[in-house]
Amino acid sequence: MPKLVYDFTEGNKDLKGLLGGKGANLAEMTNLGLPVPPGFTITTDACRSYMADGSIPADEIGTHLEKLEAAMGKKLGDPDDPLLVSVRSGAKFSMPGMMETVLNIGLNDRSVLGLVRQSGSERFAWDSYRRLIQMFGKTVMDIDGDLFEEAIDELKAGRTDLDLTAGDFEALVGTYKEIVRREKGRDFPEDPKEQMELAIKAVFDSWNAPRAILYRRQERIPADLGTAVNVVAMVFGNLGMDSGTGVAFTRDPATGHQGVYGDYLQNAQGEDVVAGIRNTVPLQHLQEIDPHSYAELMDIMAKLEGHYRDLCDIEFTIERGKLWMLQTRVGKRTAGAAFCIATQLVDEGLIDLDEAVRRVTGDQLAQLMFPRFAADHGNTVLTRGMNASPGAAVGRAVFSSARAAELAAEGQDVILVRRETNPDDLAGMIAARGVLTSRGGKTSHAAVVARGMGKTCVCGAEEIEVDAKAGRFTVGDVVVQEGDVISIDGGTGCVYLGEVPVVASPVVEYFEGRPSDDELVRAVDLVMKHADARRRLDVRANADTPDDAARARRFGASGIGLCRTEHMFLGDRRVLIEDLILAGTAEERQAALDALEPLQKADFAGLFAAMKGLPVTIRLIDPPLHEFLPDIIDLSVKVATGKGTKKDRRLLEAVQRLHEQNPMLGLRGVRLGLVVPGLFAMQVRAIAEAAKAADDAKPEIMIPLVGAVQELESVREEARRILAEVGVDALIGTMIEVPRAALTAGQIAEAAEFFSFGTNDLTQMTWGFSRDDVEAAFFGTYLDKGIFGVSPFESLDRDGVGRLMRVAVEEGRRARPGLKLGICGEHGGDPASVRFCHEIGLDYVSCSPFRVPVARLEAGRAALM
Ligand code: PEP
Ligand code: MG
Repeated sequence: MPKLVYDFTEGNKDLKGLLGGKGANLAEMTNLGLPVPPGFTITTDACRSYMADGSIPADEIGTHLEKLEAAMGKKLGDPDDPLLVSVRSGAKFSMPGMMETVLNIGLNDRSVLGLVRQSGSERFAWDSYRRLIQMFGKTVMDIDGDLFEEAIDELKAGRTDLDLTAGDFEALVGTYKEIVRREKGRDFPEDPKEQMELAIKAVFDSWNAPRAILYRRQERIPADLGTAVNVVAMVFGNLGMDSGTGVAFTRDPATGHQGVYGDYLQNAQGEDVVAGIRNTVPLQHLQEIDPHSYAELMDIMAKLEGHYRDLCDIEFTIERGKLWMLQTRVGKRTAGAAFCIATQLVDEGLIDLDEAVRRVTGDQLAQLMFPRFAADHGNTVLTRGMNASPGAAVGRAVFSSARAAELAAEGQDVILVRRETNPDDLAGMIAARGVLTSRGGKTSHAAVVARGMGKTCVCGAEEIEVDAKAGRFTVGDVVVQEGDVISIDGGTGCVYLGEVPVVASPVVEYFEGRPSDDELVRAVDLVMKHADARRRLDVRANADTPDDAARARRFGASGIGLCRTEHMFLGDRRVLIEDLILAGTAEERQAALDALEPLQKADFAGLFAAMKGLPVTIRLIDPPLHEFLPDIIDLSVKVATGKGTKKDRRLLEAVQRLHEQNPMLGLRGVRLGLVVPGLFAMQVRAIAEAAKAADDAKPEIMIPLVGAVQELESVREEARRILAEVGVDALIGTMIEVPRAALTAGQIAEAAEFFSFGTNDLTQMTWGFSRDDVEAAFFGTYLDKGIFGVSPFESLDRDGVGRLMRVAVEEGRRARPGLKLGICGEHGGDPASVRFCHEIGLDYVSCSPFRVPVARLEAGRAALM
C-alpha cells in the first residue's frame, strides 16, 4: 500500500508533486523549526484515486488525526475543549483562489460552548461557528454564497463586522442553519468527522470545478495532476485586537526591490484579507501594533529568503500575540521583477549567473517587450491605484465578466472594472486587455491572477465608486459609462480617460541598440549575455524584407532561416504572376519570368546587404499560383454582369482551371517548381546573381514541400547548373514539412545539404488539421476536453510531430554526418519548442524577429536545464 498521508514532519519542499506546493512548503518550514501549526497532508496520489473510484484513505487519515490530537492535547469536536482544523487545497502549481478551503472544522452546537469557555470569548466562538457554516455551506454543500452574504449584510445594517456582538453571531448561526436546511433539505452536519471527510472530498472535487479547469488551461497546467489536501490545526486571528492575519512578500513583487511588502488585518481570519471586508493596513504598521511579532516575522522572512534563495510570499496569523506561519512559497512576480530579482540575487551572492538564467523565462521576456504608454502623452490622470501588474492597456470599460467576454468575442478591447475580483471573474479577466479594481492591494485576487497571466492590472483605486448594476463608475463627479474608453498603466497605477498612445518598451529599445541605465535593462542585458554564452543553438530569423532582416540582426539573429519568396509577389507584382499564369506559349512564359527576375534580384540583394556575412536561407516559391489571382466569386460576378475585360475572362478561366478542393495539399512548393518550367530557375538565377554582386553573401537555397528525394534531385540538378553558370556557391537543402519527408529522411539527406523543419505544415499534415481553420473551429472544445493542453500549432507536439522530427534528425545525420538542421515553423519562437529543438540536437531555430531574443534566452536555459 503506498503511503497516502504525510505528517508535516515527514515532507519537504522538493515533494511538491506529491504533497502540493502548500503541503511541501509547510513541511519545509516545520523542518526549519519555524512556528507552523501541526498538521498533515493527504497526497495528490490520494486525489487521483478519489477521482477514479471516490475513495479516500480513511484509516490513514484517522491515524494522523489521532497524532494531531495528541500533539495538540485536544480532540476534534470535543464538547469541553475542541480541536478545530482547517482543510486546505494545495496543488503542485499554485492556483490562487481556484480551489476550496474550509476553516473551523470541528464546531457544532456543543463544541461551540467548549470553545467559548476555552477562549474566554463568546463573540469569537460564535463568529468561528458561523464562518464554518458559511464556508462549509458554500464550498462543500454547494449553496449559493450570496445567501449567507445577504444574511450578514442585513444583520450588519450599516455596521462593520467589528461592531457585531456575540449575540449577533449566535443569531446568525441560527439563520445560516436555516438557509442550509431550506436549500439542501438536510441539516448542517454536526458530526466533526463527517465535516472533515466531506470537506476533504470537496477539496478534491474542486480540482475539476469549471474555474479551476479554465485556470489550468490558461496557465498550461496538466489536468491530471490533482490536488493535495492539508489538514491543519486551527490558529485564530479573530480572537481580538491582539490577533490578526496577514500576507507578505519578502521583497516587492512588482519591482523586485528589497524591503518588506504586505498587508495586515487585525482581528480577522485568513479569508477576510483577500475578500476585502475591511481595508488592510500596510504590514509596517504591525511594528507598532505588535513589535514582538513584527520582529519575529522579519526574522523569519529573512530566513526564508536565504533558505529558498528567492522571493517568497507568506501567509501568517497572530493569535493573542503568538505568530504562526500558515504558508510560504516562492512568490509570483511580474516579468520585470523576475529579471531584477534574479540579478539582485546574483549581486547578493545567493545564486550564480547560470541560476539567474534558469530563473527567468522566455515568456517573461516576451511580456517585457510589450508596449507602454508614451512618456509625454499629456492626458490627465483620472485617478490612481496600485501598479499591480505592468503593461499599458486601452479599452472600453465593462463591469462584468460576462460582458467582457461578450465584447472581446466581437473583437473589442475591453478593461474589466470591478470593485474587486473573485475567481468567478476569471473568464472576464482572460478576455480583457486589463483589469481595474477599486479595492484590494497587490496581494488581492485581481493582482495575483493578473500577474500570473501577464495581464495589465491596476488595483485598489479607492476614489473609484463602481456601480456594476448601473454599468458605470464615478470618480468625484466624473462618470464613466460602460463602453467609454479608458487607459490603465500597470507600471504606475494611473488611470486615464480616453485612449493614451502607446510606445515600445525599454527592453525593445535596448535590443534595438539604444542602451539605458534602467535597472530592468541592465538585468536583461546581464541575463541575455549569459544565455548567449551558454546556448548551443543558433538563432536565426524568418524575414522577407531588408527592414525585418536588419531588425532581426539587431535583436541578435545570426542569419535568416526562412525568407518566404512568395511574399515578394504581392502588391503591384501580382500582375506579373497573372501574366505568367496566362502565358499561352513558352515565349510568353519566359517573358513573364524575365520581368520578374530583376525584381527578385533586387529583393535578394537587400537581404544579403542586411545580413552581410551571415547565412540567408531563401525558400523558393511555395503556395499555389491561384492564390495570387483575384477572388473567384468577384471575378465571376464581374464577368457575368458584363463588366469584365477580356483579360478578366481569361483570368476567370485560369482560376477555374487551377481551382483545388484542398489547395494546402495541392500544386504548391516543389510540385509547382516541377510543373511550371522556368519558375524555380528564375528564382535561383536571381539569388545567384544578387549573391555574386553582394559583399560577403552566404545564400542557402531551400526547396519547400519535398516528400520524395526524386523531387529534390530534379530541382537540385537545375539549381546547381545555374549556380555554376553564375559562379556562386550556395548550400541546397530542403524543408521537412511533409510526414513522408521525415520518414524517408535518410534518402532525402543524400540530396540535401540541410534540413529545416517546417513544423506548421508538418503539424497540419501529421494531425490532419487544416492550419487555417481548426483553431477557430474546434480547438476550444479540444482544450476543454484536455485532448491537448495547448494548440499543437503553438507549441510543438513532442509525441507526434516531435517523433517524426527525431526520426528525421537521426536518419538524416546517419546518411550525411554534418547535415545542418534547423526549424523555421512558428514553433521556432515558442519557449517549450525551443527547448525541444535543443534536446533533439538541432543546430538552429528560426523565428520572427521579435521572438529572436526569446529564442536566445530559451536556448540558453535549455543548455542549463
Ligand atoms: C512551415 O510549414 O512550417 C513553414 C515554415 O512554411 P509555411 O508556413 O510558409 O508553410
Ligand atoms: Mg510550409
